Amino acid sequence: MKHAQEILQKTFGYNDFRHHQSNIIQNLLKGEDALVLMPTGGGKSLCYQIPALIREGVGIIVSPLIALMQDQVDALQQLDIRAAFLNSTMEATAQQQTEQQVLKGEIDLLYIAPERLMTSRMLSLLEQSSIALFAIDEAHCVSQWGHDFRKEYQQLRILHERFPAVPRIALTATADQRTRQEIIEQLNLHDAKLFINSFDRPNIFYTISEGLNARDRLLSFLNQEHPTDAGIVYCLSRKKVEATAAWLVKQGRNALPYHAGLSNEMRQEHQRRFLREDGIIIVATIAFGMGIDKPDVRFVAHLSLPKSIEAYYQETGRAGRDGAPASAWMSYGLQDVISLRQMAQDSDASEQFKRVLHNKLEAMLALCEQRHCRRQSVLAYFGETLDKPCGHCDTCINPPEQWDATEPARKALSCVHRSGQRFGVNYVIDVLLGKGTDRIKQFGHNALSTYGIGKELGEQEWRSIFRQLIALGYLNTDVDGHGAIKISEKSRPLLRGEIELILRKPKLDKASSKKSKSAKHKTTLRSVDEPLFERLREHRLKLAKEHGVPPYIIFHDSTLEEMATTRPATLDAMRYIPGVGEKKLEKFGEAFLAVILSSPLPDILKNNLSDTINETLILLDEGKDIDTIAERRDIKVSTVYSHLAEAIEAGLLDAHEILPLTSDEYNSIVSALEMFDDNGRLKPVFEALDGNHDYGILKCVQASF
Ligand SMILES: [Zn+2]
Repeated sequence: MKHAQEILQKTFGYNDFRHHQSNIIQNLLKGEDALVLMPTGGGKSLCYQIPALIREGVGIIVSPLIALMQDQVDALQQLDIRAAFLNSTMEATAQQQTEQQVLKGEIDLLYIAPERLMTSRMLSLLEQSSIALFAIDEAHCVSQWGHDFRKEYQQLRILHERFPAVPRIALTATADQRTRQEIIEQLNLHDAKLFINSFDRPNIFYTISEGLNARDRLLSFLNQEHPTDAGIVYCLSRKKVEATAAWLVKQGRNALPYHAGLSNEMRQEHQRRFLREDGIIIVATIAFGMGIDKPDVRFVAHLSLPKSIEAYYQETGRAGRDGAPASAWMSYGLQDVISLRQMAQDSDASEQFKRVLHNKLEAMLALCEQRHCRRQSVLAYFGETLDKPCGHCDTCINPPEQWDATEPARKALSCVHRSGQRFGVNYVIDVLLGKGTDRIKQFGHNALSTYGIGKELGEQEWRSIFRQLIALGYLNTDVDGHGAIKISEKSRPLLRGEIELILRKPKLDKASSKKSKSAKHKTTLRSVDEPLFERLREHRLKLAKEHGVPPYIIFHDSTLEEMATTRPATLDAMRYIPGVGEKKLEKFGEAFLAVILSSPLPDILKNNLSDTINETLILLDEGKDIDTIAERRDIKVSTVYSHLAEAIEAGLLDAHEILPLTSDEYNSIVSALEMFDDNGRLKPVFEALDGNHDYGILKCVQASF
């Protein structure tokens, strides 16, 4: 294990193992099998890479993700690890060359697709070679019930029969019990040690928002939280993908569409740009993502409701694999609820399958409508208990208000009933609001007892009530697919007045409520360090282009952030930044050090004061006056003064120079302060000076002595 620790530090540049990594490695070093359930971003690959480097022979990594192999191997080669891959995209001579290297023991890690591994040629080649281990990545592909099923995966069980002495490790980020059992059965892993990690992704901030104008809300989310970041926006249909991408481009964002209807070349080109350029937004159907291992995806946004919590978890899980703050944002509305309900009902699958589908959708809807912590529910769905609310999701930060909606709900249900259960939500709302439309008159519904009984609420509030009634199962949507809503069995006690109904209060669309706690870089990066971080990023992009690799293969964002914050002044100091191993230090250390040294912090910013004070000081350093600073930062003038007072007290500023005072005025304040000193209270001083000087100015003068 000492050797493993050394490789972790020297080669990969990290100080400590995370989660179960070290136990898993130990297990493989002993030659035993392992089954590892670990969320994406949990550090799965180190679990087999390190033992493969230590054990004699080549580590064989089975992966279905051919598109990913090149990048994985590139990343390892940057660390001077002898890695290679074999797949159908290679030319015959290159394949033969790699095979020869394997035979000669010149490769430590070999990535290979299952169909190739299972060829008799490959198996006999391996029998002549020395093998360190088999790593079966994305092991859930053996599951017949899963959406990633790959038939060749089931053949992998023969590895155990043909190579009984070689330890195997199967890995997956899919958590549910049934898949786990299937992996054990199919791969014959009954004796494998099971390692289950928490599926919590604490760096992801979850938000689920409801209502109209999803696109506008998406834009304000992007502008506020991720103005320059890379991310993924998921939509249900190709048409919506195209329209949303085009719209984002119009708003000045670098957005690209991705769906099965595009040509192969175009899809590859868009994926390539997403990986290799900074700040690209991919707008995609769910077809995009499985082969994507980009660690610095800063947000995943859903403009359509995912079909299940598994899908939601998996798709949002593509954000923040590097462990830095990331957002999972979702918008959903009445129409989502209706269309997904219908899709589940309409499919020609077996009744049993439909029921499973239906239950999964119910759980997803419940997650949307719930009033308590989202993370607790997501984890509970996977059988994991989080003792306390997480404090890092929208319902924790901004708990939804609830209200007794019993009366309005009864009105809504009885209006559905009286209009004959033949109409959609919009029509019923029009009746409730007493809108005398032609259609209503045509059906004579202006004569109903429920006509106009809902005027105390607005249209948006009614939509929210209907959405929740449908989501909670009080109303069903029509099986014929015309969108008509019907009363369900469940609503009888409510109509009879036997139960009460508490609902979430609709959040009425205002330009978006106060700035929420966000996932943007500011949470980890001080604003004084942002310019340097940006310079480091630019430099990384340049290097990445030169080397023909994605930027994150040079360094992760989190490594650059650490550089920007700690500003190492020598190569030796840079060695201790997480993510900088010896090889990368050798290759890139000098260049990044030069960027750091050429961007020294102004003296005034070398302090331990808070971030907000430093933001004021940055503007002051740029020569802005106090009013301008207040305006720019959207804070009060007196707050600016109190920031300056702290900087004066810390000896960073001279009160004489920055305050708008003549020396006579300054001196009169000093004498007033001396005369009326009352344990630092400024009110008597303020009054003694006839209120001529702002409290903020007094505070600054006080701070100067
Ligand atoms: Zn929470």
